[in-house]
Amino acid sequence: MSDFKMNTKCVQSGYRPGNGEPRQVPIIQSTTFKYNTSEDMGKLFDLEAEGYFYTRLQNPTNDYVAAKICDMEGGSAAMLTSSGQAANFFALFNICECGSHIVASSSIYGGTFNLIAVTMKKMGIDVTFVSPDATEEEIDAAFKENTRACFGETIANPALTVFDIEKWAKIAHKHGVPLIVDNTFPTPVNCRPIEWGADIVTHSTTKYMDGHGAGVGGAIVDSGKFDWMAHKDKFPGLCTPDESYHGITYAEKFGNAGAFITKCTAQLMRDFGSIQSPQNAYLLNLGLESLHVRIARHVENAQAVAEFLEANPKVEYVNYSGLKSNKYYKLAQKYLPKGGCGVVSFELKGGRSAASQFMSQLKLIAIETHVADARSCCLNPASSTHRQLTDEQLKEAGIPAGLVRLSCGIEDKEDLIHDIKQALDSIKD
Ligand SMILES: *Cc1c(COP(=O)(O)O)cnc(C)c1O
Repeated sequence: MSDFKMNTKCVQSGYRPGNGEPRQVPIIQSTTFKYNTSEDMGKLFDLEAEGYFYTRLQNPTNDYVAAKICDMEGGSAAMLTSSGQAANFFALFNICECGSHIVASSSIYGGTFNLIAVTMKKMGIDVTFVSPDATEEEIDAAFKENTRACFGETIANPALTVFDIEKWAKIAHKHGVPLIVDNTFPTPVNCRPIEWGADIVTHSTTKYMDGHGAGVGGAIVDSGKFDWMAHKDKFPGLCTPDESYHGITYAEKFGNAGAFITKCTAQLMRDFGSIQSPQNAYLLNLGLESLHVRIARHVENAQAVAEFLEANPKVEYVNYSGLKSNKYYKLAQKYLPKGGCGVVSFELKGGRSAASQFMSQLKLIAIETHVADARSCCLNPASSTHRQLTDEQLKEAGIPAGLVRLSCGIEDKEDLIHDIKQALDSIKD
């Protein structure tokens, strides 16, 4: 980890060119790499030497960008993946296998919920979902003898719950299991989960890190702090010889700092090939260079919009952890003192019809399924992502028909509020 401040890390960490080398991160658009002797190449296949041989596993452009994200999160090693979904799958599957069990927050991104509850279940991996607000006793009771990982989101998409990282980390560690935190929404600019005890951090870089809606991607960062060998029986994949690499034991050969990411690259990237294209990694790095500037503006705009909405009579309630009225205000002050993210959700009093009238009148804010890029956008779950549910079922799922998820971009907040105001005024009862 470098000693630079976050603003400097966003701009300069990762790629450090030597004398006469390109100033910008080079895009190594090559599937393969050349060697002088087959002995040289053999060393790479044995994990005896560091280097590149095939872009399905590793590419230098990706590694420059992963090194920047690693430095920003304060980790020991990191890798990029083709998407946030791939990052979360790899982070979990690197330590879980058929017969394992996961404890996860029930308030997580729908795609991750489905990945764990449906797809990983088919692989024989079981899960217990627990409310992020559960008591220590309740969370503790969810752990089983075969639990191998604990998972949550710093700020959940789209529920916007705030995860008590320190509390969950303490319980996970008591059970000899690492805590994996998806830090997509705050980004390391606003929260660094490793400082609160998280062992592994994941990202959908598709969101604020890219920040321009340009490329789908993901990242995994290891803190290097989890002592795998101290829990040898639970993690045979890291603590016993890997026959597909001539019997090396990752935790012994690469230590706590390198074992997790090396295994994840050597086994999962080799076998699944969910690599980010070097082109996308280049675009991601452009996004990272301004992340610290953009995030502050996203937060400023979201806070102003949330306060405006809360004072409007057509609005039933507003969910934003920067509001004093919010259930998570205190936790947010602890984990997100510089603010959380740009996403606000609110319910309109007139239900589905009010939401649809409101959205049809917006001039600047676009209707999109995306969140977290420079341009403001919004979505009514009841008429899009959750349209198969009845009004009753929506209520039970905590997604009332009149709920609007609004992702505040980095435009001028006065223009955003003006657009929202004229659309609210147009709603007829
Ligand atoms: C979007 C998102 C994901 C999935 O990422 P993709 O890049 O779309 O695969 C995972 N977690 C969170 C919190 C997200 O917002």
